[in-house]
Amino acid sequence: QQDGEQPNQSHSLFDAFLHAKQCKEVLSRFEELCSHLNLEHTGQIHFYHKLKSSLNYWSAKALWTKLDKKAGHKDYDQGRACSNTKCLIIGAGPCGLRAAIELAFLGAHVVVVEKREIFSRNNVLHLWPFTIQDLRALGAKKFYGRFCTGTLDHISIRQLQLILLKVALLLGVHIHIGVQFKGLIQPVVNSHGQVSEWRADLQPGSSPLSQYEFDVLISAGGGRFVPEGFKRKETRGKLAIGITTNFINNHSRPEVEVAEISGVARIYHQKFFQNLCNKTGIDLENIVYYKDDTHYFVMTAKKHSLLKKGVILNDKLDIESLLSPENVNQEALLAYAKEAANFSTNYKLPTLQFALNHRHRPDVDMFDFTCMSRAENAALVRDCNGAKLLIGLVGDCLVEPFWPLGTGVGRGFLATFDAAWMVKRWASEVSPLDVLAERESIYKRLSQTSPDNMNKNVNQYSIDPTTRYPNINLQAIKTSQVHNLYIKGDIEMEQNKRRSRASPELVCKDTSRAYEELLNWCQSNTASYHGIKVEDFTRSWKSGLALCALIHHFRPDLLDFNSLDPNDPIGNNQLALDVAEQELGICPVLSSTEMASLSDDEQLGFITYLSQFYDAFRTAPE
Ligand code: FAD
Repeated sequence: QQDGEQPNQSHSLFDAFLHAKQCKEVLSRFEELCSHLNLEHTGQIHFYHKLKSSLNYWSAKALWTKLDKKAGHKDYDQGRACSNTKCLIIGAGPCGLRAAIELAFLGAHVVVVEKREIFSRNNVLHLWPFTIQDLRALGAKKFYGRFCTGTLDHISIRQLQLILLKVALLLGVHIHIGVQFKGLIQPVVNSHGQVSEWRADLQPGSSPLSQYEFDVLISAGGGRFVPEGFKRKETRGKLAIGITTNFINNHSRPEVEVAEISGVARIYHQKFFQNLCNKTGIDLENIVYYKDDTHYFVMTAKKHSLLKKGVILNDKLDIESLLSPENVNQEALLAYAKEAANFSTNYKLPTLQFALNHRHRPDVDMFDFTCMSRAENAALVRDCNGAKLLIGLVGDCLVEPFWPLGTGVGRGFLATFDAAWMVKRWASEVSPLDVLAERESIYKRLSQTSPDNMNKNVNQYSIDPTTRYPNINLQAIKTSQVHNLYIKGDIEMEQNKRRSRASPELVCKDTSRAYEELLNWCQSNTASYHGIKVEDFTRSWKSGLALCALIHHFRPDLLDFNSLDPNDPIGNNQLALDVAEQELGICPVLSSTEMASLSDDEQLGFITYLSQFYDAFRTAPE
C-alpha cells in the first residue's frame, strides 16, 4: 500500500464516491473522502494533484491516467492558462458541469450553483460519436460501467450528470446544490476609490457564496434561462407535440431481448405508422425507444389523434392553452403513451410499469416543441466602474435542442468547448472586443454542425475550435460588429431603462389577447383592399393577397398589388415571401405551397411570421 496510514479506508471511501448513485450522496461521499485525506477543496486544479498523490492504488490510478492525459493537453498550459480567472457557472445540467470541467483543466477557480437538490431526469440522450469519445476520455466507464457498452449510443440525463459531477469534483470544482442564481450584483467603488468585483444575488441569500467575486459568468441554466442583456430568437415550425415516458427496467431476459428503436421517422416507415394508427388510433410522426436505466420512449404525436383519444380535451388556438394541465386528461395520456410503447415493441416488453418522476408520479410528459429558440449572441461583456465581466451562454440556454437528433448534448458540449476557448482568450488578455468577435464567429457555425460535417478525427478534438470545425474562419465577425455586446455602465439603470421601454403589446403574457390584437391590426391595415377580408390566421391568407396587401399598405414601392392574380395563390405567396425576406429581413417559416394550403397545424408558425410584420411596420409612418 502506498497512500498513507489507513489505506483501506481511503480506498473504500473512494470506491463509495465512484459508485454513488444520487447527487447528494456523491457530494457527501466526496466530503468524507476529503476530510479523511485531510485535503482542502480549493476550487482549482491543484486539488486534483494533491488528491492524486494521496490516493495511489490501482482503481484510482486507472482514472488518474485518463485525467492526466487530458490535463496534459497543450491548450491548458499545465493548468496555468486561466489560473487568475474566477468563474461562476449557473446550472449543474450536463453542459454546466462539462463547462466546469474544461475551466478546471484550464486552471480557473470554478464554482457551480444548481437550484435543484436531486438529479432526477430519467430521459435518455442520444450521444454523438465525439461525445462518447469525450466522456470515455474523462473516465466515464470508471463511474458507470455500462457506459456505451457495445453499440449503445445513449445515456440517461441523470447518469450523465452523475459522471460529470464526479469528474468536476475531482478536478477541484466547488459545487453548491439548492442554490439559485437570481441576478448579478454590480461592483461598487468604496470611499478609497477601490472597485470591488462582480458578485451574484443568490437564493438563499445567507449562502457564504454571496461574497464570491468572479470575472467570468457561464450560464448553463437550460431551457429559456438567460441572464439579463441577452436576446432570444424564435423559429416556429409546424405544430409539434412531444411525449416522453419511462418504464421500469427490471433487466429481465425478455426485456434484454427487445430491440431498441433508434428513430423511426414516418417518411421511412409509413406502413408501421399506418398500422399503429389503424389498430390503436394513435397517430405519430416518429418514435424512439432506448433501453437504459429505464425503458425510455419519446414520440411526436399528431394533435388530431390526441383529441380523438381524449388526451387533449378541447382544441385551442394557442399551444400553451392546448397543453395546459386543465386541458389534458392525465389518465388518457398515460394510456396513450403505454399503448404506443407496447405496439412499437410488438408487445414484447412484459407488463410495462411506469417509472416515477421527481414528483413521485408516473414519468410521462407532454410538451410543445413547435417553437425552437436560440440566443442571438453567445457572449457579452459588462464593464462597470472598470470591473469587467465576461458572460457566456452554453447548452440549452444558448440553443434549444432538437431532441430527435441529439443536438442537446452534441451541440451543448461543442458550445462548452467554445466557451472554454473564449475564457482562455479572455485570460490571456486579448482585447474584450476581439474575444467577443471570435466567439460570435464560432457561434455562427454551431447551428449547422452535425456529426457528418465535423472534423473526422474525434480523438484530436480540443477546446481549440479549429480541431473540430473544418475550415472555420475565426474572424468571420469583425470587432466593429460586436460593439453592442460590450455593455458599459450601471446594470440597474439599464434594467430600468429596458423596463420603461418594454412594449406591452405582443410581448404581453396574455397570448390570446396578443393574437386578437395582431388580427385587429391585420384587419385594419388591409380593409381598404378590394376582395380582402381577414377573419382568421388560416383561410383568409391562403390566396396570398392579404399578405401582399399588408406589405403594400405600408410599402407600396415593394410590389404592384393590382397586377396580382387571385387564382395564383402560390405565385402571390412566393412574391410576398421573397419581398419580405429581401426587403424587410423577415425569414420565411413556411413555403409558398404550405402558405397556399395553411392548416390549423401551421397557424402558430404563421402567427409568429405575421408578428414580424407587426414589429417591422407598427412604427412606420402611415
Ligand atoms: P439542463 O440539463 O436543462 O440543465 C440546466 C440546469 O440549470 C438544471 O439542472 C436547472 O435546475 C439549473 N438551473 C436553471 N436555472 C438556474 C438558476 N437560476 N440557478 C441555479 N440553477 C439553475 N434531450 C433529449 O435529447 N432527449 C430528451 O428526451 C430530453 N428530455 C428532456 C427533459 C427535460 C425535463 C429537460 C429539462 C430537458 C430534456 N432534454 C432532452 C434536453 C437535454 O436534457 C439537454 O439538452 C441537456 O441536458 C443539456 O442541457 P443543459 O445542461 O444546457 O441544461
